[in-house]
Amino acid sequence: MTADAAVRRTVVTCLHCGKRNRVPSVADGVPRCGNCHHSLPWIAEAADDDFAAIAERASIPVLVDFWATWCGPCRMVSPALEQLATERVGVIKLVKVDVDGAPALGQRFQIQAVPTLLVLRGGEVAARQAGAAPVAVLRRWLDDALAEPKPSEPNPPAEKEPS
Ligand SMILES: [Zn+2]
Repeated sequence: MTADAAVRRTVVTCLHCGKRNRVPSVADGVPRCGNCHHSLPWIAEAADDDFAAIAERASIPVLVDFWATWCGPCRMVSPALEQLATERVGVIKLVKVDVDGAPALGQRFQIQAVPTLLVLRGGEVAARQAGAAPVAVLRRWLDDALAEPKPSEPNPPAEKEPS
């Protein structure tokens, strides 16, 4: 059905009550379970034509996964990202972009290799990670990106003047 192309839906199981919900790729606020009203993990797919609506204008920070079907490391990173989206329910939205179906995005974000991960906050790139990494590393990277108001230089260690 072509009418469904504008807003795609992903089936997500509620962590709280186990009900399967159809979660829209674009929504105000954060998706909630139709049964128990707890927040649901938000995982969507986007391409050139709908990336702006799904990722750049999202109501919460977005973790973008640029991946490809032929990419072995992507198959290890994708479950880790879904785990993070599940752990950070209501905090981030995971948006997957198949680079082969999104040449304009690949060019715009200068994707040289897959997987490449971005954190978008208010449509701006707050962090970028190229290549696969273990989930613990990705979790720390994500939390750092969410904690910083803007990417900035680390503060040099303060040196005490001898008095
Ligand atoms: Zn529920």
